[in-house]
Amino acid sequence: MMKTLYLKKGKEDSLKRFHPWIFSGAVHHIDCEPEEGDIVRVADSDGNFIACGHWQIGSIAVRVLTFEEREIDVSFWSERLQVALDVRRSIGVAGRENNTMFRLVHGEGDNLPGLIIDIYGETAVMQAHSVGMHVCRMQIAEALKQVFGDSLKAIYYKSETTLPFKASLGQENGFIYGKSDTNVAVENGLKFHIDWLKGQKTGFFVDQRDNRSLLEHYAYGRNVLNMFCYTGGFSVYAMRGEAKLVHSVDSSAKAVELVNANVALNFPDDNRHEAFAEDAFKYLEQMTTPYDLIILDPPAFAKHKDALKNALRGYTKLNAKAFEKIQPGGVLFTFSCSQAVDKDQFRRAVFTAAAISRRKVRILHQLHQPADHPINIYHPEGEYLKGLVLYVE
Ligand code: SAH
Repeated sequence: MMKTLYLKKGKEDSLKRFHPWIFSGAVHHIDCEPEEGDIVRVADSDGNFIACGHWQIGSIAVRVLTFEEREIDVSFWSERLQVALDVRRSIGVAGRENNTMFRLVHGEGDNLPGLIIDIYGETAVMQAHSVGMHVCRMQIAEALKQVFGDSLKAIYYKSETTLPFKASLGQENGFIYGKSDTNVAVENGLKFHIDWLKGQKTGFFVDQRDNRSLLEHYAYGRNVLNMFCYTGGFSVYAMRGEAKLVHSVDSSAKAVELVNANVALNFPDDNRHEAFAEDAFKYLEQMTTPYDLIILDPPAFAKHKDALKNALRGYTKLNAKAFEKIQPGGVLFTFSCSQAVDKDQFRRAVFTAAAISRRKVRILHQLHQPADHPINIYHPEGEYLKGLVLYVE
């Protein structure tokens, strides 16, 4: 029997606008204390049904799964996953030979708050950000098998670092279905090793796919610096785009290994590429190569709102260095993946950097997350990736 949570009077307004979160301050009482991860029925102060969702401890008390009164079972999950797959097919990233990796489920953006699923060829990598999704993982795995059929060989569950620490679930990463024979997946015809075992996030940053394609068109004949390269997505596209040389930089030695392996996979024995394990600021300060195409894709500088001011300063400092060093006629691809920094704040930080360097700068493109990382229109908080492509005179 599902427990019912009653809202304080008038606190149902945001839910009537389909916002998928209920904050703890809106809760009047629950008819019986649930355990974290339980599915609860949410009612207004008069007892009228409003939604069903996962109960959690913290400032968000419930993440809504559905605004319809229905059972949350395997068929619920498979309906949601089927819609998500249909969306990916219709935007042209799923069901293709030259692109076998994409994000299938992007949390609230796919009406599945707390759940991320990335597809890498025959393997799905699943990540729970809430105890509720963790509790439901085997049902979700079952639904994934139903939706994909034989084309899915393995499901890797990777939630060791994403589940709330306080829930002390002691969850370890591992396969919850099958095993994968290969860790190579294809993005726009380029091959990549995906390190879901140890890599960041689910093993690859699928969210830069479209931006990498755009970069490919700018690469011809240029000296490219891919700063914060991680697995080297941008580097490999720059190689295909006939860059003159490509340098990849990351402070992590592991990333340097990954980028070298991915370049070798696509362009064996091509000496246009070199990778360096070095701190970004140090490298930018000391570099002597005349780069005329620079990519800056740093990790999130602000994980929370209270770190905002420092984060903005960090973006300004980093971009100012790039403006100072880039060749005349150079192109800068600069990004922020901090959810706490909105696109106007980011643009202002980059504008300040341009002004400090006194260069003439034109905005050529304004970039964002791709269509397989959709934003639920009722949950604008889902917007996180933004970028600018700039021409530096
Ligand atoms: N551009 C990548 C994703 C970048 S993730 C892609 O398309 O896949 C951010 C990367 O920045 C990580 O690999 C991390 O190791 C690296 N990093 C973090 N701090 C750094 C620093 N100070 N200098 C250089 N690299 C850094």
